[in-house]
Amino acid sequence: MSAAGRAERLAERVAERDLDALIVGDLVRPGDSGPDAIANVRWLTGFTGTSALAIVGPEERLFLTDFRYTERAEREVHESFERARVEGRMVAELAKRLHGRVGFDDMTTSVHWLRRLEEEAGEGVELVPVQGIVEDMRRTKDGGEVEAIAEASRLADDVFEWTAERGLAGRTEADVARAAEARMRELGAEPSFPAIVAAGPNGAQPHAEPGERPIGPGELVVIDMGAKLDGYCSDGTRTFASGEPGDEAREVYELVLASQLASLDALRAGIGGAEADAVSREPIEAAGHGEHYGHGLGHGVGLEVHEAPRLGKTSEDILRVGDVVTVEPGVYVPGRFGVRIEDLVVVAEEGTRNLSSTPKELRVVG
Ligand code: ZN
Ligand code: ZN
Repeated sequence: MSAAGRAERLAERVAERDLDALIVGDLVRPGDSGPDAIANVRWLTGFTGTSALAIVGPEERLFLTDFRYTERAEREVHESFERARVEGRMVAELAKRLHGRVGFDDMTTSVHWLRRLEEEAGEGVELVPVQGIVEDMRRTKDGGEVEAIAEASRLADDVFEWTAERGLAGRTEADVARAAEARMRELGAEPSFPAIVAAGPNGAQPHAEPGERPIGPGELVVIDMGAKLDGYCSDGTRTFASGEPGDEAREVYELVLASQLASLDALRAGIGGAEADAVSREPIEAAGHGEHYGHGLGHGVGLEVHEAPRLGKTSEDILRVGDVVTVEPGVYVPGRFGVRIEDLVVVAEEGTRNLSSTPKELRVVG
């Protein structure tokens, strides 16, 4: 789908809501946006810089950036957009360009900038809070996006293999994490988030930060990492053993694997995020570990490593063809160890296509 096609479809959704235009972009730190905050603008226009806002309506395609990015905008932003260079503050220029009923996303707008917009917009501008219009469209990945994510996932799988071959016992979590991230960069990608390496008792904290304690023999080691290529993220987790981990750890490992396989089996277009989550929880609860599985089954992945839809107890999302989501049940036994197994899949016409290829039987890497 070209940028022109995306803008066209967005304009239709804007019109359906009786809006004259929608502001797309980051109104928390306009002019200095991180990659997640500016993901909607990137998806809509192709622009890869850190300072931009867009206005889209049935009659309008406007792209605003500052002097640092005018050349890049000429190169990257689709020609269906009028490209304007902002001389002063982004929000002041934005305010000048508004007319009629204008939607803004109140999830990505600070109170400060909303007040400034209200003050500076002319008479007759009505600012209307809306939520997640672009995020909802971004859920459905086209072929090129799926291939970018699949390629990022393949690259991360190479790094899983490379990490396992080097062994874990005797190295610190931080060393393993740093080495994996450096390997990703050598292979031409960026980490999509700081790698998590959590051994033994640290593994019982789902988002532990890698520490300086050497990994002992026979510990379970949760490694959660992803690569980012051309702006698109991957996300995957494997749990390895640094030597024979013992019967209890093996039992929990098999339990999480059974849950993960059952969830993958159940995933398809039309299933609810809450329903899929319940499938994953069933075997874990039956084994008495329900309280040790404290997070949801998964989340969407794309330009952001966490995006729509969500798979979890309170999710109201229904899976659609083109969604790319993680499937990542886990069991965390406090003070002892944790197990999480995470694959990345794309929802297809029938079932799913798995973008993760690292084997899932428990690997004892020493
Ligand atoms: Zn992950
Ligand atoms: Zn994840």
